Amino acid sequence: MAPPDSLPPKDMPAANAARRLELARGYAAAALAALDARELPPQPPNFALFYDLAEGSRPDLRMAMEAAETRGPLDEGAMGALANRFFQPTAESMLLADALSRINHTLQEALSLVTDHGAEAEAFGERLVQIAGVMSPEPKKLAEVLRRLTSETGAMIERSRQTSGRISESAGLVESLRAELDAARQQALTDALTGLPNRRAFDDRMAGAIAASDASGKPVALLILDIDHFKTVNDRFGHPVGDAVLRRTAQTMRAALREGDLAARTGGEEFAALLPATKLEEAFEIAERLRLAIAAQTLTIRATGTKLGDVTISIGLALRHPGETPVQWTKRADEALYRAKQEGRNRVVSAEPRKAVSW
Ligand code: GH3
Ligand code: MG
Ligand code: MG
Repeated sequence: MAPPDSLPPKDMPAANAARRLELARGYAAAALAALDARELPPQPPNFALFYDLAEGSRPDLRMAMEAAETRGPLDEGAMGALANRFFQPTAESMLLADALSRINHTLQEALSLVTDHGAEAEAFGERLVQIAGVMSPEPKKLAEVLRRLTSETGAMIERSRQTSGRISESAGLVESLRAELDAARQQALTDALTGLPNRRAFDDRMAGAIAASDASGKPVALLILDIDHFKTVNDRFGHPVGDAVLRRTAQTMRAALREGDLAARTGGEEFAALLPATKLEEAFEIAERLRLAIAAQTLTIRATGTKLGDVTISIGLALRHPGETPVQWTKRADEALYRAKQEGRNRVVSAEPRKAVSW
């Protein structure tokens, strides 16, 4: 008998699998072609970035790659920064998952202790009933019953003591795992080099700042900072010196911003700041203060006494417009930063019409 019309053909899963394979081959070919066109090696992170881009399921990735490309050809540094930004969370979530599974295990253990204890208490109750059943007014028998009751009760108290000791041990373990989990979560939101919040933390806080601004009606400003000619610092003095410059820049940022502002390291040599409840004039002043503080740094390589020369930053500033998504807001700040670079670097450019001119 032929199958009813409403059932899918028998080979449907096979057809789906073939279609998926064909799509995946298409994305892979597009990724390879894109890498070829940019003369980038088809190594896993590079390939994965362009594969995901071809697949089109991550609009944030597309925006970031486009923004990076408007600033210059995608070199290995830029690709590394993108891979860090988009693929790093996997390792972090593994860390969290591990801590969670250990907490779960400990809770299960504690729970089984409590359950065992409950069963013991029940058995104890039954034994008391049995003993009570043979109660007799005869003093000799009564003495025996009392002796047994005392001994059963004593044994029960001892078992309870042991069980509660084990339960509090487990509770201690749960507490220390919880602290570990907090530390892991903190670590997942912190940039290891500078100690500043990382991109993920910044994205979370951005959502919070938008909600706060919508609720209060007060403006919120975004600064995107990028160190000027940072590649030259690395090339001339080496990567460790570059790292020291990044740490120093982070310190200066912390010092120049106000309490309640948020500084983050959002990429390789890119930083960002959120300035809640801040009007344009004030945001511009803060950005300018930050720029000057960084330009005023004197950086010396301690071992050799070599002076680094001026390290400067360019800043793009954008106030959030009503209804704007984080991506749209960031894009405008990024474009302002791009203009700051084009206009000569070491300057603040605002995306807002009233302060379009930089100095
Ligand atoms: P521009 O003024 O246009 O921003 O020039 P740039 O040289 O700063 O920009 P580019 O994007 O060409 O180079 C950025 C460099 O930052 C390349 C990359 O090696 C370096 N970089 C990224 N992350 C780190 C890091 O964690 N440590 C060090 N030392 N260097 C890094
Ligand atoms: Mg950069
Ligand atoms: Mg730079």
